[in-house]
Amino acid sequence: RPAGWAAGAGAARPGARWVACPVTVATGQGEVAAPAGAMVKETIRVYARVKPVGRRQQAGIYSVDDDEKSASSLEIIVPRDLADGFVNNKRESYKFQFQKIFDQEAKQDVVFESIAKPVAECVLAGYNGTIFAYGQTGSGKTFTITGGAERYSDRGIIPRTLSYIFHQLQKDSSKVYTTHVSYLEIYNECGYDLLDPRHEASRLDDLPKVTIMEDPDQNIHLKNLSLQQAANEEEALNLLFLGDTNRMIAETPMNQASTRSHCIFTIHISSKEPGSATIRRSKLHLVDLAGSERVTKTGVGGHLLTEAKYINLSLHYLEQVIIALAEKNRSHIPYRNSMMTSVLRDSLGGNCMTTMIATLSLDKRNIDESISTCRFAQRVALIKNEAVLNEEIDPRLMIAQLKKEIQDLKDELALVTGEERTAELSQEERLRLDELIQRFLEDNDPESILDVGPDMRKIKYCFIHMKQLMNDSKISEKKLLSQHVLEEKDTSIQTGKEELKLKELLQQRDGEINILVNMLKKEKKKAQDALFQLNAVSSGSEVLDQSVSINLEERRSPFGCINLKEAKDFSCSVHRLPFLSRQTGEMSLGCQEAFEVFKRDHADSITIEDNKQLLKQRFAEAKSLGQKVNEVRNKINHLKGEITQRYIQKAALAVASPSEELNKFDPIEEKLRAQIEEEKKSYKMMFNRLKGLKVEIEHLQLLMEKAKVKLQKDFEVWWSEEATKLQQEKPELVNASNTVAVYPQFIKSSQHLSTN
Ligand code: ADP
Ligand code: MG
Repeated sequence: RPAGWAAGAGAARPGARWVACPVTVATGQGEVAAPAGAMVKETIRVYARVKPVGRRQQAGIYSVDDDEKSASSLEIIVPRDLADGFVNNKRESYKFQFQKIFDQEAKQDVVFESIAKPVAECVLAGYNGTIFAYGQTGSGKTFTITGGAERYSDRGIIPRTLSYIFHQLQKDSSKVYTTHVSYLEIYNECGYDLLDPRHEASRLDDLPKVTIMEDPDQNIHLKNLSLQQAANEEEALNLLFLGDTNRMIAETPMNQASTRSHCIFTIHISSKEPGSATIRRSKLHLVDLAGSERVTKTGVGGHLLTEAKYINLSLHYLEQVIIALAEKNRSHIPYRNSMMTSVLRDSLGGNCMTTMIATLSLDKRNIDESISTCRFAQRVALIKNEAVLNEEIDPRLMIAQLKKEIQDLKDELALVTGEERTAELSQEERLRLDELIQRFLEDNDPESILDVGPDMRKIKYCFIHMKQLMNDSKISEKKLLSQHVLEEKDTSIQTGKEELKLKELLQQRDGEINILVNMLKKEKKKAQDALFQLNAVSSGSEVLDQSVSINLEERRSPFGCINLKEAKDFSCSVHRLPFLSRQTGEMSLGCQEAFEVFKRDHADSITIEDNKQLLKQRFAEAKSLGQKVNEVRNKINHLKGEITQRYIQKAALAVASPSEELNKFDPIEEKLRAQIEEEKKSYKMMFNRLKGLKVEIEHLQLLMEKAKVKLQKDFEVWWSEEATKLQQEKPELVNASNTVAVYPQFIKSSQHLSTN
């Protein structure tokens, strides 16, 4: 980056607004092209989105005023009966300004067009961008950022942005682009890589934690967060779904990651013009924050409370950072207090185009949360960011360029002086110079000069040579005088060397000891784990005893519904229930049957069924479209054949009677060509539609896959809850008939098996 960059052109544009893309900066008088390397100053844009409340519309709680040109305002009216509950606020209505407010009926495509597209454009131009959603749980953050799990049209900002970015990249052949994505989850102040392939196989706690590192320039780097290359939209979408599925798998009732964790999906783009040494890098963070509700509401005690406290704490730190940024003359911004504020440091008060979406679930119960979300948004709107183009020089290319420049200069020099110059002086030249120097030194004439001509190599050589001669003579003069001084120095150098050696040895030993201690610690932990597992097995066997009394005969059979291992895991944790082992895909018969029943009653199965139908339709459509495309292609080939036929006929005619002109205008051929053009048009249209269908089909397949995983998970949870209940409530009743009423499905499946 060239020196003095920060003071560049952009600094002179306070308050410039980025409208569509930072390359053109709108000033009040119209758009002006910003010079390359510009900096754009801009306050964080803040939007609001109100979630649909369903059929039971509660009128009069809020109103949206869209009249003003550049902003709209939201007025929240506190109903009288609630107003008394507000201890500190006797006001009954609150007004908040937003860039734009998306009311209940706003669709995903509109939200994308007005919020995300401008940011995506900035990112394509080489600036960093962030979009984050803030709001209480259930207000639509995930719906807005990722999308709904049911309809293709419900896909949110991430898939739409990916689609848009890849389309734009494809269109631009003037640059070479590389895209990567990463997906980070922050839960209880720990970072997890949602794209880590080990996610499926291991518990969340066993995965390597993503940690923050800061380089001397105070840039943030994330250790253990993988950057996965995505060459096209499809690959990027697959990664998004992989991450979402991993997030879902890790989630249990004890660990409601989706409401208590922050998720940051990042698209990294680097671009380079062919032959240029300048690389532009930009990042787009799409952030789904944890629910912003306050602790008191979640106060369930125990584990949940610590989590809630943490979440509250990290959002509290976010708020502190935002307050500090909004204050003028604050030199210290407390970014380091939490992982999330560290990761988002550049997005808040830094080098980034940042946008916030305040999601609101505006019904009576949520009025206070909605007001606090809006208050937060108003403070965020005060923050100014300065986004600069992220350009850097590729050193390898730079070297190549410099080498070429040197060669050019050498050639030029050779042309001017008429002699070829090498980097080094030749042996002959050096000898000749030695002679000249000797003669110059011996010459007593004060007027004498040493002339070696306009050659820097020779001039330098002379200076070095003379310095050497001078040092030599000094040394020989002092030699006798300082004999013993030199000796002393010698010994001190030697002791110094020895000391250094010993120090190195010491360090090496320290290192070895450290490694041994670590190994010991690991062994100790392993032993503890083993002990823990042993305990778990023994407590698990209690469950086993009770399950025997449920008369699960099949315990002895290889298809047993609850075998030793399963029972153990029931009591161990609900974190991962291995009877639905994802690695093997096996499920015992009893479970399978229970699963079938569960599936039938599960709400999501309707969605799955709907999507299945839709998928079938789309497949059929794609198939018929494919056939049509083939037909058209055949038609085109046929028409081409006809033209060729006509040529052959005409050629034959020309040979037979040379008076006929070969290149004469042929109306029939023209007609054939026009027909081909027509067919080509419809071919292109159908082909594009087919491509669109492909994307949609893939998306639907991924949605279904996700729904299936969720169904399995819900089942696991239900199943384990049943097992725990069974264990807690009098086990001797389990065999009696009245339990059938309590656990009909559970007993039905096991009875069924034993009668079989
Ligand atoms: P959050 O992530 O803030 O906890 P979600 O995005 O999960 O909230 O939304 C909660 C529920 O509301 C989901 O079932 C979601 O599909 C639905 N929902 C949220 N916003 C909208 C919207 N704008 N249109 C339709 N459904 C929505
Ligand atoms: Mg969510």
